Amino acid sequence: MSQTTHHTKRFDTLLVANRGEIACRVMRTARAMGLRTVAVYSDADANARHVREADEAIRLGPAAARESYLKVEAVVEAARRSGAGAIHPGYGFLSENGAFVEALDQAGIVFVGPPASAIAAMGDKSAAKSRMAHAGVPLVPGYHGDDQDDALLKAEADKIGYPVLLKASAGGGGKGMRVVESAAGFQAALDGCRRESQAAFGDQRMLIEKYLTQPRHVEVQVFCDSHGNGVYLFERDCSVQRRHQKVLEEAPAPGMSEGLRREMGEAAVRAAREIGYVGAGTVEFLLDSSQGQDGAFYFMEMNTRLQVEHPVTEMITGQDLVEWQLRVAMGERLPLAQDELTITGHSFEARLYAEDPEQDFLPATGTLTRFAMDLEGAGLDPERVRLDSGVETGDAVSMHYDPMLAKLIVFGDDRAQALATLNRALAALDVQGVVTNRAFLQRLATHTAFRDAELDTRFIEKHEETLF
Ligand code: ADP
Repeated sequence: MSQTTHHTKRFDTLLVANRGEIACRVMRTARAMGLRTVAVYSDADANARHVREADEAIRLGPAAARESYLKVEAVVEAARRSGAGAIHPGYGFLSENGAFVEALDQAGIVFVGPPASAIAAMGDKSAAKSRMAHAGVPLVPGYHGDDQDDALLKAEADKIGYPVLLKASAGGGGKGMRVVESAAGFQAALDGCRRESQAAFGDQRMLIEKYLTQPRHVEVQVFCDSHGNGVYLFERDCSVQRRHQKVLEEAPAPGMSEGLRREMGEAAVRAAREIGYVGAGTVEFLLDSSQGQDGAFYFMEMNTRLQVEHPVTEMITGQDLVEWQLRVAMGERLPLAQDELTITGHSFEARLYAEDPEQDFLPATGTLTRFAMDLEGAGLDPERVRLDSGVETGDAVSMHYDPMLAKLIVFGDDRAQALATLNRALAALDVQGVVTNRAFLQRLATHTAFRDAELDTRFIEKHEETLF
């Protein structure tokens, strides 16, 4: 692994190498900090909101992401031409691409994110698990060794006890993953998983984990600066997922004791320190609450970028995480120490997708003839409701990119109050011209099991009958 030096320096122009809501959200903070903003766009986005809001906009290429937003040389060239001293990658696209970070290092442009070496350390699941074990971060019982002999893997699975989960070491996005219910099905599952992994990642290495049947997805927001300081900004519960896609998130995680919160937070900071992390990161854990309230937690993976759901953390801490990112990228110290951070209430985020729940969530396209939310009419406090959107009335929604249109984020003094606000805000959202999942979000947010915080990653599956 190449150990590149991590670049930080002051800059006055920021290029945002992304589109949609996250590009708009990053530019909002950049502007507030007095920075000049540069947008990049594909042909499909020539008139998009993030382009309209930037001080300058540069075309990258055709609509296909591979020929525009994912094209390293085009993005670096846009930074050069616009005189941008730094690039914020948002999430997705080039945000966890080590080669991109190295190209920026070479060009003397600041990457608003971790060093390439930290991205690489978390990129391979087996290698990452070895590092985490070394740092004393709890792992799901399992096998992540180099020896990939069939008989050995089978013996390891028997030892762990069924059901087990086979995972491609090089995997991601839920690919190359299979649950094995019993010893009898092991060999066939292993063969299938290897084929899938070879096809998707050009790599056949597998790891095996105990399959937890009702875990919660609880992730910890961490932040490190380039001076050796690291803190955690508490946790988010993202258990409500559809096909491993998060739909509703909240912070803090309901029912967490202060002791467990601290334990998970400190484990997450250890994980970040182990790999020389700098910037905003998220350490994902599975929380096994099948044995009672404060169950065991296990490291799953670390996302080396700002997450989609970062606003719920901002709401409960009163901090602007993008501002923290930009300050750290400029070489400043973390704005606050651990004991200066507190949780002041509860927050939810609902992801509004252009998709049709009635048609198996098929992505929807069209022109938004109306996209608005009447806060005043609904008697909602603008301090407590936030709509992070990449679109406005009149905008076109194409099929080229992720169908997420916006995120609705709310705050309340406690969970019940925040949930009531979420429901009123969802009702106040007025979207016409493009089909969305709004009604589905409303069914989730009014569901009694959700109200009672009966959360695990199979929530949607379990309540299918009352949700559809
Ligand atoms: P990917 O990188 O492909 O997203 P992850 O390792 O992050 O794969 O796992 C994706 C999802 O699979 C998790 O969010 C969780 O819901 C589920 N999962 C992962 N590991 C386990 C496990 N050991 N037991 C039960 N569910 C798991």
